[in-house]
Amino acid sequence: MATMSIHPAVDNGVRPGSANFAGGTLACKCASNPVEVSVTSQCAYNHVCGCTKCWKPAGAMFSQVAVVPRDKLRVSKNADKLKVVDANAAIQRYACRDCGVHMYGRIENTKHPFYGFDFIHTELSKDQGWAPPEFAAFVSSIIESGTANGRGAVSIEGAASGALRLPFAGLDGCDRHPRRQGVGGACSLSPMAAASASTG
Ligand SMILES: [Zn+2]
Ligand SMILES: [Zn+2]
Repeated sequence: MATMSIHPAVDNGVRPGSANFAGGTLACKCASNPVEVSVTSQCAYNHVCGCTKCWKPAGAMFSQVAVVPRDKLRVSKNADKLKVVDANAAIQRYACRDCGVHMYGRIENTKHPFYGFDFIHTELSKDQGWAPPEFAAFVSSIIESGTANGRGAVSIEGAASGALRLPFAGLDGCDRHPRRQGVGGACSLSPMAAASASTG
């Protein structure tokens, strides 16, 4: 039986990040004139996300998404190929109009808890050293969107918490994540989860 792909970045074990990594270049999948995005920062909160909005590679069940400060991200090539996928979404995802890859997501609502962060997919970069995925989120969306049935979700949980060593964030929460990092109180990612959930 074929094994489900969570995401190519985690299917065969997670590659550790580099302590002194200071960013890199993301490129879309176009063979000619790719869009390039320059990031001058390590990423944070890298995770695999099961929501229906994040871009994911063909065959993967989850996307892999992280945040960087928005002032550390700059479109360095072929910016004219980018278009906003859904201007009404809390996170405006900028996609290449030719290959469809999402290059970054930006929040323009200054009252949003995650205003100031851009969302990126580090797999679009050839540079080595990005902080790896730390947890899995929006797993229930996988089930609700019909990608997997309940039985599938059980194997996702096994994979995420076992072989992949990713803390599994329950069905949608992420309470294990801050505790793992020794931070008490409410999870700082809950607002993101709520915001993403409210955008459908
Ligand atoms: Zn492209
Ligand atoms: Zn997502």
